[in-house]
Amino acid sequence: MIRYIFITGGVVSSLGKGIASAALGTLLQARGYGVRLRKLDPYLNVDPGTMSPRQHGEVFVTDDGAETDLDLGHYERFTGVSARKSDNITTGQIYREILERERRGDYLGATIQVIPHVTDAIKEFVLSDPGEGVDFVLCEIGGTVGDIEGLPFFEAIRQLGQELGPERAVFIHLTLLPYIPAAGEMKTKPTQHSVKELRSIGIQPDVLLCRCDRPIPETEKKKIASFCNVRPSSVIEASDVGHIYDVPATYHAEGLDTEVLEHFRIGDAPEPDLSKWNDIAQTIHNPDGTVCIGLVGKYTDVPDAYKSVMEALAHGGLANKVKVDIRLVDSEQFDDGTTPLEVLEGVHGIILPGGFGERGAHGKIRAAQFARKRRIPCFGICYGMQLSVVEAARSLAGIEGASSAEFGPTDNPLVGLMEQWTKGNEKQVRTANTDKGGTMRLGAYPAILQADSLVARIYGTTEISERHRHRYEVNVGYREDLEKAGVIFSGMSPDGKLPEIFELADHPWFIGVQYHPELKSRPFEPHPLFSSFIEAAKVQSRLV
Ligand code: GLN
Repeated sequence: MIRYIFITGGVVSSLGKGIASAALGTLLQARGYGVRLRKLDPYLNVDPGTMSPRQHGEVFVTDDGAETDLDLGHYERFTGVSARKSDNITTGQIYREILERERRGDYLGATIQVIPHVTDAIKEFVLSDPGEGVDFVLCEIGGTVGDIEGLPFFEAIRQLGQELGPERAVFIHLTLLPYIPAAGEMKTKPTQHSVKELRSIGIQPDVLLCRCDRPIPETEKKKIASFCNVRPSSVIEASDVGHIYDVPATYHAEGLDTEVLEHFRIGDAPEPDLSKWNDIAQTIHNPDGTVCIGLVGKYTDVPDAYKSVMEALAHGGLANKVKVDIRLVDSEQFDDGTTPLEVLEGVHGIILPGGFGERGAHGKIRAAQFARKRRIPCFGICYGMQLSVVEAARSLAGIEGASSAEFGPTDNPLVGLMEQWTKGNEKQVRTANTDKGGTMRLGAYPAILQADSLVARIYGTTEISERHRHRYEVNVGYREDLEKAGVIFSGMSPDGKLPEIFELADHPWFIGVQYHPELKSRPFEPHPLFSSFIEAAKVQSRLV
């Protein structure tokens, strides 16, 4: 029997609903249960693929090629369960499907309404097959209670609560308990109002997860329980912790998973085995040293845009028992050459992450040059790889005007649009050019590594599969010129047409990859490229 856990949020956004959901998922796993996490996003976009990183943060890509919410990254990292396209739905997707059906005449003359048509579609999504061995499906509702666009989602889960009954459905509500220094008190009123809002649309939360920056006094817990109509033990203190990977153990200590199991009357659940979490907490809080990585990106004012990259760097740190300090450096400041690259002085490694468009690109090219000349470990990801190739083409191979077609017409398109992706490939191209969504090469694709290369040694294999999200690709036509100049194309698509990885021969560690390795890195399985990059940074910092 599959049970459903609905996680909603109130008072304000950014309380860490995604991490709370992921943490509960891992706690249930640690007790031996199978879990699947799903995200319901009330916004109208079909998916976040077309949204600016400034609006939405990172777009998380699944193996099966979906562009999804970054919370799915938290789910994967915490539970180790790979997310799928079928784990994220938006209002836009639901309406698109309903309107297509309506145009086909599938509704046989009926009036299409939010209730029941939209709510039924949401329920269908929640109840859709989660796959083998799943005991709990955790559904996080994006946004906060009271948002107009969220109403159909709340109505759908309300109906599900009634249809499934308390033995199969539980409602967890995440709220904020602000501390008011002038009053010297923690305030419960916003939580009371948030629960009132939830109850006004028919949902009585079973468990309240209360975010706070200090312990909740017993009297306040009782007050919340009484006003919000929950058991005192169901008011869970969710205080700020030093590191996100401390969250599962902290929430367990406060009784979150125990309350959920009690709600379901599961009395025989084994105690969770949190040893692996305790082990990484040990490393996080007692590192052997610190390395500093300069992340030269164009969305550095919105660090969420680099969520998985930053997490993967931390995982690389875990593998090397070091803390990774990330210095966010805006690449745009280097574009016109006025800001000296010396602001990067002192970093032990440079990472050039993904990105789109010309702004900030020239700055990244200059940062790649700085890393190459100074022999600083450098890791280029997707756009970062493409621009590192442009740099090598200009500086090492002497190809004048080498550029990317992404920035306009050029005589030497080192990076260009590949025809084969825009012609008749169903997986990547949904509609003609008018549809900007999903027109990239998306999801998992294999690559073959050159046997004696640095990357083959790092991966310990010559066949890999990694997740992609790009429209442009390094132009294989320049391969010979570049190889003569000291560039190694050490990873190619199986047909040998698309360069997937490049290395610089005469450099301690300079690797560029066309894919996004950060999306597959997990705290318990750090991605080998990130582990190796941090190891190289450690050498650079003279920690070893
Ligand atoms: N803008 C580049 C492309 O479309 C790189 C994309 C990325 O970094 N994800 O190919």
